[in-house]
Amino acid sequence: MRQDIHPEYYQATVTCNCGNTFTVGSTKSEIHVEICSKCHQFYTGTQKANAVRGRIEKFNRKYGVKA
Ligand SMILES: [Zn+2]
Repeated sequence: MRQDIHPEYYQATVTCNCGNTFTVGSTKSEIHVEICSKCHQFYTGTQKANAVRGRIEKFNRKYGVKA
């Protein structure tokens, strides 16, 4: 039986570029992300937030939702 094909499961510490940290279940012990839920809530002027907004507008147009 091969035991080494199942990686260990950690409560990983996720560190975001904005300085926010939180934990998630992961096979890595540490994760670095560029954007997190906190960024979405509080940083609305970034390129990524604009990209998200663009997707929402596209969705609304596709399904006839009036903004
Ligand atoms: Zn963040």
